[in-house]
Amino acid sequence: MFIKRITIAAVVVATFILVVACSSRTEDTGQSVAAVTTCPNDPGFGTSGCYQGDWWIEFSVTDHSVTSIKVEVQNTTRVVDLPDSWDLGDGHVKFYGGPNDGPVSSGTMIRLTSTSKNGTATTNWFAYMTGSPVVTCGDGGSSDSGAMDAGVKDATVDATVDVTVDATADATADSGVEAGKDAAKEGGTSDGGATTSWSPYWQQTQYAGSWWAEFTVQGGGSLPVSVSLEVVGGTTYPLAYSYGKWTSGLNYVASGANVILHAKDATGATAQTATFQYLVNQAPLTDASKITPSTSSTCQPLARGMLSLTMDDSYPSQWTLAAPVMAKYGMKATIYNITHTLYDYGWLGSAQSLANAGHEVGSHTVDHFDMTGLTVANMDYELGTSQTYLKANVGSPADSFATPMGSYNATVLTEIKKYYASHRTVNAGLNYMGSSVYELNSDGAYGSITPATICAGLQDAAKYRGWRILMFHDFTTASTSNNDLLYTVADFESILKCAQQTAGLDVVTVHDGANAIRCASP
Ligand SMILES: [Zn+2]
Repeated sequence: MFIKRITIAAVVVATFILVVACSSRTEDTGQSVAAVTTCPNDPGFGTSGCYQGDWWIEFSVTDHSVTSIKVEVQNTTRVVDLPDSWDLGDGHVKFYGGPNDGPVSSGTMIRLTSTSKNGTATTNWFAYMTGSPVVTCGDGGSSDSGAMDAGVKDATVDATVDVTVDATADATADSGVEAGKDAAKEGGTSDGGATTSWSPYWQQTQYAGSWWAEFTVQGGGSLPVSVSLEVVGGTTYPLAYSYGKWTSGLNYVASGANVILHAKDATGATAQTATFQYLVNQAPLTDASKITPSTSSTCQPLARGMLSLTMDDSYPSQWTLAAPVMAKYGMKATIYNITHTLYDYGWLGSAQSLANAGHEVGSHTVDHFDMTGLTVANMDYELGTSQTYLKANVGSPADSFATPMGSYNATVLTEIKKYYASHRTVNAGLNYMGSSVYELNSDGAYGSITPATICAGLQDAAKYRGWRILMFHDFTTASTSNNDLLYTVADFESILKCAQQTAGLDVVTVHDGANAIRCASP
């Protein structure tokens, strides 16, 4: 179990639900089965209560290690593979299918099966758009619907709001559903007013009532750290970030009111949109004349994208299989070692060989415990003793750290800062200039994730001038991998080839990458 279970932040979810039950498509991830703890494979399914036409289907899962979702239609042989996933940030991934997957009519009995690195999980049969899935434990078949929060609400939502919200949404633009989704997926490409120094992507969704709105702001070379909506001549409302979006309930802003979106990024740069009409203009443009670049001497957006290859848990194949490929491409990885494993399994030699070949020596603790369950004294032992051992036996400075399972809290972070210069999490997404080096995002290169998918992520890093950190574990010479902790050597080489061929992308160690994005607060 190498992946931290991601649990939906109930407080945030509640905010959206209070604003409006069918607040948006993406935030409906919050209506998934959040409190499931008994299934080792549990992905936590949820279906959106809103925004589904008869030909359109969308599901969310809350475990970012889930790599595919299949939909079975009862009494048919039909199995729909949901091919597209959308990284919502903070470890949440949404899977959805488009019109080509349909039609699946409202009320049709369907069942979901997810595949993750831990195996598969299946829901009960439930009525599409009018019922809620309950995850069934794949191991024992016992239901774990215990604290599920979706069922009643979704039923209510569907009964009442489908009539109103969906009626509106469907009437205005069922095709707009896809248009909106595609626009969001495309990131900053559609923004005519963007500059090369900072190009936030602004979008107002179609899924807003006259008293509610949702905005999307996606980074381009930098990460917005605050976004607000100004009513011209009136109040300015701060928006909150969650699930990859900046949103807020704007109960008192009338449709058609003149508004301006403002944003500030981690480097201190600011940007704003031209004045637009709230809920009337759906995709405001950046006002090119109102962009203020960072004035900081150290906090400028990265000139190029970066990639780091990181490898966890001290598998000897990192030296025997991965290192020769990296040598061929002249690339260096960061190796997060478990020092007890080096000692116990006699794997010290491969760790030393990697260090001698120029790969960075990083720590992944002594024992690979979940650090949030340790006393502070034991945290310090895991942090300090592993570092001391690595410096003495493998290499220095050993100042990059990764938490086991990506599990951490504020206390763990405080202790990490006493010993290390950076901390890699398993929260998905790019890092940018000014991002916290103690909560670095990384993306798992699991056996079931294709090189093509990962390659697209590398191209995004170059395009948005962000820093992509990939996390590998063990390697195999087999032609395919049936284990998410195993990556095939051939696929690994495909990724390195992609990195080499991606213009504007540098491969760096985590130590060097952290130095590159570290800057004094503007
Ligand atoms: Zn690990």
